[in-house]
Amino acid sequence: MLRRYSLFVFLFILTACLINTRFSVAGNPNNNSPTNDNSSSSSTVSSASEDDKSSDKKDVPVKKEWLNRNLGSEIEIALDDVTTILSKRNRCTDLYGESKDVLMVLNFFANRIERRTLEDSGVGIRMFSNYSSIISSNTGFTYRMFENVIINNKGPFLKVHNSAKFPKISRVGSFFSGTRKARALMLLHELAHLIKDSSGNWLIPDDGADFKLSTQNTTFIERTCIKEIESLK
Ligand SMILES: [Zn+2]
Repeated sequence: MLRRYSLFVFLFILTACLINTRFSVAGNPNNNSPTNDNSSSSSTVSSASEDDKSSDKKDVPVKKEWLNRNLGSEIEIALDDVTTILSKRNRCTDLYGESKDVLMVLNFFANRIERRTLEDSGVGIRMFSNYSSIISSNTGFTYRMFENVIINNKGPFLKVHNSAKFPKISRVGSFFSGTRKARALMLLHELAHLIKDSSGNWLIPDDGADFKLSTQNTTFIERTCIKEIESLK
């Protein structure tokens, strides 16, 4: 009886040890390796997509660094449209200057874009804070860059035309707000604030909160670039 009891106790202790051993294996840090494998494979995926992006860059005349910013398709398409307009010699680009210079400014500008909600729904894009001026020593091409570039979530750049709902933002120049043409016109307007002409003046004067002057500036850019803007469908 005692022997049986001893055998039973022995078997019980042995089983308990085996169970314990399993638990300790499960708790072994080496057992976390599948999780590490998972995370290393996801970083492989992300570096693969970065490779895709860099190979995409080779196909375009300008570094579209904004593609890494997740700005949203509306903004990305508008930046693409303006890139297309400014890549060729035309009446519009004659105002702005050499394509390579202007596209460089567009790229810097795009890298500062942030989407925010501004109180004034009449504002599509706002540039503010300090700016730095840059002069090319080779060509004399001069431009500036503001610290902040905001695209208003509730402004005419992003809000699609609805005159009953948003009467203040129904149009940009001759175009309905929230359309490709309106968005391209707004980007071209902002770009004109950033570049100097050969006489040393900004392509359009600062308009700040001056709605009338801002509208005049938009009209001037629209007239200059109308053919290229109209080509956007
Ligand atoms: Zn302006």
